[in-house]
Amino acid sequence: MNVLKNFISDCKYPVFFTGAGISTDSGIPDFRGPKGFWKNNTPIYYQDFVSSEESRIKYWEQSINFKRNFGSFLPNEGHKAVSKIISEKKQGHCITQNVDNLHQEGGLPDNDVTEIHGNATFAICIKCKTKIDLELIHDEFKKTQIPPVCSNCNGFIKTATISFGQPMPQEEMQRAQLESLKADLFIVVGSSLVVYPAASLPLVAKENGAKLVIINNEKTDFDNLADLVINDSITKTFEELFI
Ligand SMILES: [Zn+2]
Repeated sequence: MNVLKNFISDCKYPVFFTGAGISTDSGIPDFRGPKGFWKNNTPIYYQDFVSSEESRIKYWEQSINFKRNFGSFLPNEGHKAVSKIISEKKQGHCITQNVDNLHQEGGLPDNDVTEIHGNATFAICIKCKTKIDLELIHDEFKKTQIPPVCSNCNGFIKTATISFGQPMPQEEMQRAQLESLKADLFIVVGSSLVVYPAASLPLVAKENGAKLVIINNEKTDFDNLADLVINDSITKTFEELFI
């Protein structure tokens, strides 16, 4: 624990890379894991969403079901620690695979978070990118069963997440890359680092001279490259850090 404390106090530009594991202590299951949402729900691929009305109807039914299970979670000590460390250093960044908005709710300004898989708490027009309140969309769909389209440009409206089969968002990917290069300390929290680009960013940082820390409840393929590996509860690890 002292090693982590020292790494954090010595660094100038901490970059966090967070995955499902940081949010499980908030009660959110790992959606891709064995008990995850996608084990019981067939994902709608992006290509089907854009090409078929039937798929869009299924998509919104699923989204409403998802929201029902997803609405009221709170940030935990892990999210709060990330925002506390970045705010104390007055610089740094958080790249997240999560779509739950809990980093922002835990106090991180929007500009300090890069969401490489999007955000499930609002909707967006896939054409003109206008942000739209998800609750309004859900209420309307429940009444009409008609998949929503954008009032500005007639584009399809979708939650702001990156769906299966949807290309990774370019701007976010560039920012993630750039921030990884700026890091002098790169801390992976709760990601098993198997899905691209999770599997490349720690390397980018490490090869550019950053110290690499991995806090995860199970081993990862990057453990042998890391300067410190903590296989323990994330909230417990951060709680102890600030004692
Ligand atoms: Zn639009």
